[in-house]
Amino acid sequence: MAVLVTGGAGYIGSHMVWTLLEAGEEVVVIDRLSTGFDWAVAPDAKLVVADIADRERVEEIIREHGIDSIIHFAGSVVVPESVADPLSYYENNTANSRTLIAAAVATGVRHFIFSSTAAVYGSVGDEPVTEEQPQNPDSPYGMSKLMTEIILRDVAKAHDFAYTALRYFNVAGADPKGRTGQSTKGATHLIKVACEAALGKRDGIEVFGTDYPTPDGTCIRDYIHVTDLANAHLLALKRLRSGGGSIVANCGYGRGYSVLEVLDCVQKVTGRPLPVSYGARRPGDAVAVVANPGRARAEFGWQPEHDDLERIVSSALAWEEKLGRLNSPARSPVR
Ligand code: UDP
Repeated sequence: MAVLVTGGAGYIGSHMVWTLLEAGEEVVVIDRLSTGFDWAVAPDAKLVVADIADRERVEEIIREHGIDSIIHFAGSVVVPESVADPLSYYENNTANSRTLIAAAVATGVRHFIFSSTAAVYGSVGDEPVTEEQPQNPDSPYGMSKLMTEIILRDVAKAHDFAYTALRYFNVAGADPKGRTGQSTKGATHLIKVACEAALGKRDGIEVFGTDYPTPDGTCIRDYIHVTDLANAHLLALKRLRSGGGSIVANCGYGRGYSVLEVLDCVQKVTGRPLPVSYGARRPGDAVAVVANPGRARAEFGWQPEHDDLERIVSSALAWEEKLGRLNSPARSPVR
């Protein structure tokens, strides 16, 4: 019995692999290394460099390793990129996921955990959003993930197959033990960009839009520590293996921070002023997205351990420093 992690060389996937290994699981990673790094995969996991779009290869890997569960991270995650290039998002996030799900069904894999996103909701206002809220994605990214959720829903009705779709809010931070972190080149996510700016890796950071209908005019997000997110997957996996049915669950803390609050926190943690500029709104951005995390707690007993913005930022910064010291993302910071 082993777990297949797609995208296990990427940011969240590489944390997941450590969490699974620590729980005593056998782990096989499929990653085509388009944005991930082979050195990010924990040494005790097996890395297969392959594309999930290659169904024959995926089925071969599932059979060869006795895979009973799939945790599917492989995908594209940049909202504005999806606005500019929707077809690649529908290919990578929707069509390729469909191929992977088909491989799972064909080989009798019954447990499937999917990286979904709060972007499926679109702008939802000030109230924490529940899973029942209507889904109106503001971007092709959100829509590409929602379409995969719908495929999973229908497949679970038709086959002996159960899934958990975890709708991630804004994932940030890095492994507290410093073994992995967000290493993506040209990353666009707020905390990553702010940490790079704080360390002088870029000239500064631009705030995208200051005229939103929020208290300080900037967008509000629910930032969640990547290690808590990996734990949510582990709990969801246990639940599926013990016969739990298909569900969709939010993964957020239930508290929102504005862009300016995040930047203040980065300055506080570094003790240095951050060069900030103020620009126009970014296409596809929702005004405010905050989770109601009740279902994840009720259904699989999720108890976040790192629910603290300063801790998230500190861990992200520590990883950014480590990447910087090594000065070459092609070299392993961990081995
Ligand atoms: N943001 C920003 N400057 C940046 C990166 C992000 O102002 O350099 C804002 C972005 O417009 C959004 C929030 O930070 O309001 C979170 O964006 P991010 O890309 O981190 O995540 P998303 O919510 O788009 O998945």
